[in-house]
Amino acid sequence: MMNQLPVKQCQHCGGEDIRVGWQQDALVTFKRNGLLGNRIKFLICGNCGAILYQCVAEPHRFPRAR
Ligand SMILES: [Zn+2]
Repeated sequence: MMNQLPVKQCQHCGGEDIRVGWQQDALVTFKRNGLLGNRIKFLICGNCGAILYQCVAEPHRFPRAR
């Protein structure tokens, strides 16, 4: 999983120091008190701090948009 980063380089400053962060119980959660949590993964530039990418950890848990 670690070698599948969708971002390799910061598009803002050109830095390649990509950091990962997680946020739990984010505002976009659709259900409270989920045991697995609705974690959001962030990829952050370690140089300028820009958020380069974000995704949810368990996308299949969200309802399909119609
Ligand atoms: Zn940057």
